[in-house]
Amino acid sequence: MKSVKYLLSDVRIPEHWYNIAADLPGLEPLLHPGTGQPATVDDLTGIMPKEVAEQELSTEREIEIPDEVRQIYAQWRPSPLFRARRLEEKLGTPARIYYKYEGGSPAGSHKPSTAVPQAFYNKAAGIRRLATETGAGQWGSSLALAGALFDLEVKVFMVRVSYHQKPQRRALMHAYGATCLPSPSTETEIGRKILDGDPDCPGSLGIATSEALELAMNDPGTNYAGGSVLNNVVLHQTVIGQEAMAQLDMAEDYPDIVIGCAGGGSNLGGLAFPFLGQQLRGGQAVRVIAAEPEACPTLTRGRVAYDFGDTGGFTPLMKMHTLGHSFVPPAIHAGGLRYHGISPLVSRALDEGLMEARAVPQTACFEAGLAFARSEGIVPAPESTHAVRVAVDEALRCREEGRSQVILFGLSGHGHFDLAAYERHLAGELTDDGFDADAVDRSLAQLPVPGGAEG
Ligand SMILES: *Cc1c(COP(=O)(O)O)cnc(C)c1O
Repeated sequence: MKSVKYLLSDVRIPEHWYNIAADLPGLEPLLHPGTGQPATVDDLTGIMPKEVAEQELSTEREIEIPDEVRQIYAQWRPSPLFRARRLEEKLGTPARIYYKYEGGSPAGSHKPSTAVPQAFYNKAAGIRRLATETGAGQWGSSLALAGALFDLEVKVFMVRVSYHQKPQRRALMHAYGATCLPSPSTETEIGRKILDGDPDCPGSLGIATSEALELAMNDPGTNYAGGSVLNNVVLHQTVIGQEAMAQLDMAEDYPDIVIGCAGGGSNLGGLAFPFLGQQLRGGQAVRVIAAEPEACPTLTRGRVAYDFGDTGGFTPLMKMHTLGHSFVPPAIHAGGLRYHGISPLVSRALDEGLMEARAVPQTACFEAGLAFARSEGIVPAPESTHAVRVAVDEALRCREEGRSQVILFGLSGHGHFDLAAYERHLAGELTDDGFDADAVDRSLAQLPVPGGAEG
């Protein structure tokens, strides 16, 4: 193991995205909800360009990254890999802790790494406008950035509670020239229907996604762009893990444990899948841990079933761990982790025993986030603190067991727009909303039947 503090130079931006669908056994196809048959590229091209639809269904192992995309990636990629020496010292652990930091992108998270290629392919296909949903605003601001770079209009449906609680990310979207409106809105049929029933509806990611999809389905010049969950998104994020592998190689090290926070699974899959791919092809084994919020425990408490990605039931059916598409998670501060489902690829990796999942309460996460900020200097996004928490717990286990394991975790973004949540935590105002088993049971009772009437 070489003694390097951080390893950025000489690592190239990957030339391909890595598609774990080529190596992962037992994957089940996306289904057309009406027919129950596997979805085709044609089924998807109503809402996304052909290249992205092909990537969504691809089983090719490597997919070339267009030069135009790599040139924009070069503004912040390769992202730095740091050795967390001061955190190691603080914890008194013999473990070596590395973290891959995605907060250096212009929007402050890993999300621009998929927003940029999606905008690129849409522009090339002659699309005028992109529609999407956002929770806390990380994805909306990332797509707004990509839209600005490729001269595309961007319309973002932002979950109503967040729209009012998180004005800064909304302002960032406006600064990039995007339109952002609270969801449910009166601009779509589904939004109006929901508002008729509940004028004070706080909104959810599932509802906002349905609004964006409705716009895309009804206007040939508008497409939908997703920020997580979808195969093409996870694919684009594999630049993270490929770079980390090359950077660790420079340090002459290899992880025993890879950790990421899991909302829809894209930064976790992006970091871990290149390592799991090596393992599946006969290389060194790694332990992968998904860190999810206790209040929205998709992987640890969800059921594996075909379900929709949105409340209105517009998406193809995905086989995944799900809390049910009508589940509205409690308003925890890690807005990016408040989602009922998870990437089918991540879900499958868990079922295949290639991954573990751990649910952590938000106050313990903020505690770990503060410890990290005070030793490494970076204030993690609330989502990312879930990965920090699990990494710290693993490092403490190493201390107890006297083992010097190598821990790699994904620091998916910075928390500069989330400082009010840190303030609330410091003031002792944050609580741990438990898991609402009854609400999940009610939601799971409404799972769709592929090819049959919707449940
Ligand atoms: C959106 C977001 C997440 C959750 O999304 P994944 O697809 O699970 O990665 C995690 N961290 C940050 C900083 C985010 O913005």
